[in-house]
Amino acid sequence: MSKELKGIAASDGVAVAKAYMLVEPDLSFTKKAIDDTDTEVSRFKKAVADSNDDLQVVRAKAKESLGEEEAQVFDAHMMILADPEFTGAIETKISDEKVNAEQALSDVSQTFIATFEAMTDNAYMQERAGDVRDVTKRVMSHLLGKKLPNPALINEEVVVVAHDLTPSDTAQLNKKFVKGFVTDIGGRTAHSAIMARSLEIPAVVGTDSVTTSVKDGQLIAVDGLTGEVVVDPSEEQQADFNKQAKTFADEKAEWAKLKTSPSVTADGKHFTVAANIGTPKDLDGVLDNGAEAVGLYRTEFLYMDSSELPSEDDQFEAYKKVLETMNPKPVVVRTMDIGGDKKLPYMPLPEEMNPFLGYRAIRISLDRQEIFRTQLRALLRASEFGKLRIMFPMIATIQEFEAAKKVFTEEKDKLVADGVKVADDIQLGIMIEIPAAAVLADQFAKHVDFFSIGTNDLIQYSMAADRGNDRVSYLYQPYNPSILRLVKHTIDSAHKEGKWVGMCGEAAGDPIMVPLLLGLGLDEYSMSATSVLKVRSLMKKLSTADMQVMAEKAVNESISNDDNKALVEKTVGNK
Ligand code: PEP
Ligand code: MG
Repeated sequence: MSKELKGIAASDGVAVAKAYMLVEPDLSFTKKAIDDTDTEVSRFKKAVADSNDDLQVVRAKAKESLGEEEAQVFDAHMMILADPEFTGAIETKISDEKVNAEQALSDVSQTFIATFEAMTDNAYMQERAGDVRDVTKRVMSHLLGKKLPNPALINEEVVVVAHDLTPSDTAQLNKKFVKGFVTDIGGRTAHSAIMARSLEIPAVVGTDSVTTSVKDGQLIAVDGLTGEVVVDPSEEQQADFNKQAKTFADEKAEWAKLKTSPSVTADGKHFTVAANIGTPKDLDGVLDNGAEAVGLYRTEFLYMDSSELPSEDDQFEAYKKVLETMNPKPVVVRTMDIGGDKKLPYMPLPEEMNPFLGYRAIRISLDRQEIFRTQLRALLRASEFGKLRIMFPMIATIQEFEAAKKVFTEEKDKLVADGVKVADDIQLGIMIEIPAAAVLADQFAKHVDFFSIGTNDLIQYSMAADRGNDRVSYLYQPYNPSILRLVKHTIDSAHKEGKWVGMCGEAAGDPIMVPLLLGLGLDEYSMSATSVLKVRSLMKKLSTADMQVMAEKAVNESISNDDNKALVEKTVGNK
């Protein structure tokens, strides 16, 4: 019997495939007394050998998809399994204390973890605690005969089903096999959803119950355009989903014809339609979709994809690649925006009650200046290879911007004094994503070269609604007049000072929001690369004069998000 679920449509596209459960199995066990300890030791040795076999495969796959450096994490795991101090202690415990292998493994690994974690002055050794934890999980799963999911090992077409996906889980998904994903929790602007869009993987998040509604290997149909999910679909339902997939593919083929066209409205006004990227690898999507700029390069993924802070040279290579590939089109590089749902395993941040309101982004950069200076130097050195614009995330006060600018100028002066070639036209801008900055945009506009409105956070903070929490996702209201007023004030303030304004939050690629933004006079629209052609196609059908009249109403007369959605639908019709 088929079962229908409804979630949040998070990434366009339709898929029907077998479910792959990316769910941690229950690894609980009971302590048992053992008489035949030799057989128990053999059982443990077999679990170690099987774990080692897994790790060889995982390592090879990781090297293929993520590179040698990431793959080395698994060498550390294999070394633990080969360490007689670890495995020997477990075997001795089984023999001496006559306990089952699960109990001995758990006891010994806890001792190792506690020892490593106590080495507070040695970050390298502290990190080994995490490796011991991972290896223990793997051996335990073999002892208990349970399957430990691993996205790197997927080798057939599947829809990944998970309670939640972290950005690093999402980064491991192989587009060739992963045809879609569905989660219990999450929101449209959580980073895993944003990444799904750039990977072009159809996704539905926030279904509440998908992990308890489907079994591994069962057929599941996903519609990332509507948020519909059907477990074990009937033949008729499968045909419906396939039809929907075909309609979407036809639409995409139509949009593709605009790849080399400029983005102009029906009344001949040009706007910039740009793309957001997370790594230089995303440039393929930017070029394939004919984006006119990179409006947001989220550099924190460079830090997240690494096992330690990336060196100045590693960063330089990444920035150079992006600038050179896009040249002469401009690239807005945002300095590291760590914190919230983006974590660095090698730089543990203190536990916080409200990580999205905590120690993150520019707050870390201004506090840990050695990290910030390294990034700015790498950017400055790369600046001669293209058209660089630098943007600071999470700016709340003008003092923060001035402090960041001062560090930038100091590093620039040092490099110039050392004879390094640095571009002299680097614009410095800020994200408008904290309401305080939006309200004070008229003053900020005197200090910065440009603004980029980050609606994902601006809406989260204005509505006090966590962007990753599906229970409050109804408050993600980009067309709410309160949000539109902040956007309008930001745009008008910038224009008054002769500065340009972009938007790089997900709303910039939303077909209801785009007509409103055209009416408000936004200059640059930066979105997942996969939305670029859809938006260009929409702009071609709209007249800015009509959109101005509509936006005026939306800002001044309407009282709700839904009112404004209806207003746009009525004005724009089914263009
Ligand atoms: C935003 O907040 O809108 C934004 C673009 O940045 P991020 O999604 O990375 O927080
Ligand atoms: Mg943000």
